[in-house]
Amino acid sequence: MLKIEQHVSLQHHNTLALPSFAENFCRVSTESDLSEALSWSRQHRLPITLLGGGSNVVLARDLSGLVVQMAIPGIELVSEEQDQRVVRVGAGENWHQLVLNTIEQGWFGLENLSLIPGLTGAAPIQNIGAYGVELSQHFLSLEAIHLATGEQRVMNASECQFGYRDSIFKQSGRDQYAITAITFVLSSKMDLCLDYPALQKALDGIDESELTAKRVSDAVCGIRRSKLPSPEDIPNVGSFFKNPVVSKEQAETLRQQHPQLVGYHQVDGREKLAAGWLVEQAGWKGFNQQGVGVHQQQSLVLVNSGGTGVALLSLASDIQASVADKFGVSLEIEPRVYS
Ligand SMILES: Cc1cc2nc3c(=O)[nH]c(=O)nc-3n(C[C@H](O)[C@H](O)[C@H](O)COP(=O)(O)OP(=O)(O)OC[C@H]3O[C@@H](n4cnc5c(N)ncnc54)[C@H](O)[C@@H]3O)c2cc1C
Repeated sequence: MLKIEQHVSLQHHNTLALPSFAENFCRVSTESDLSEALSWSRQHRLPITLLGGGSNVVLARDLSGLVVQMAIPGIELVSEEQDQRVVRVGAGENWHQLVLNTIEQGWFGLENLSLIPGLTGAAPIQNIGAYGVELSQHFLSLEAIHLATGEQRVMNASECQFGYRDSIFKQSGRDQYAITAITFVLSSKMDLCLDYPALQKALDGIDESELTAKRVSDAVCGIRRSKLPSPEDIPNVGSFFKNPVVSKEQAETLRQQHPQLVGYHQVDGREKLAAGWLVEQAGWKGFNQQGVGVHQQQSLVLVNSGGTGVALLSLASDIQASVADKFGVSLEIEPRVYS
């Protein structure tokens, strides 16, 4: 039977370690647990908040209603045709362990997404991406339960409306579905994506014949460990702001004023600017106030050293205002804010 607890601290359930309480909390390991949790919330007329590993949330208040931690396990090879491997994964599987598992099986596709914290069920929410690869490139479909009706749905990639750190689940479908499983299309044939400059550099000198998914994954882990602070050492949610995408004209004007501007050309002609560079140039690197701050080495990462979600959002808002003032560029917060 499903165990629902009252007044549960969420401090260990979010990687920013922000103080927050769930009015009611449960962990669901099966679809029938989830149905029971949904019936309970309907019966008590309480809202539901879903949680995975808490690595992309800013908890700036207590969460009323029922917080449901998604823990449905399972990794299953659904079909293999020629080089194609179709794999169905439960929402509660740890993302990085899944990546390592696929590499061990000899399946290519997810290696560049190594070491991203969190659980598999949350991966489509912002179409996780890193080192030149996005989840959407290896995504076939997902299974979800509509929270209001309990109806089961299968959604393909176009229905999920994936974009840069974006999907329908951040837009019109926000807070409407519990994702229970995801089906990926991977390849048993060597198919590596090595376009990302930092990755190329890390693999420089390795003979092409010696390249494997494991080597790429190790290189990605090495870069990430050297660049990003681990939440275990200093609580954070990774990149706090999305990299803003601006028009070609705006990027050119900005580059005339700031020749060092860091940006990446997009296929549509626009330019994606490095948000970390903008924050650093606005003078925020290493800044601290009220137990929250900007990381010493990585300006895109906001950290918590004993503050609150309210203090963190106030700092984020000051940063957004100063970047807008200096560059005329607006920064959008990447994690989901509960304020
Ligand atoms: C150090 C660090 C590095 C990171 N690097 C990257 C990176 O390189 N690229 C990247 O894209 N992200 C990165 N992230 C962000 C984060 O890891 C991802 O967004 C991850 O997918 C979040 O997973 P989670 O289980 O922790 O989600 P949570 O934080 O628990 O939830 C995030 C949102 O998804 C919703 N949600 C969670 N599970 C479900 C579900 N099963 N069904 C429906 N809704 C659900 C929640 O309600 C919430 O709104 C990083 C974070 C950290 C801390």
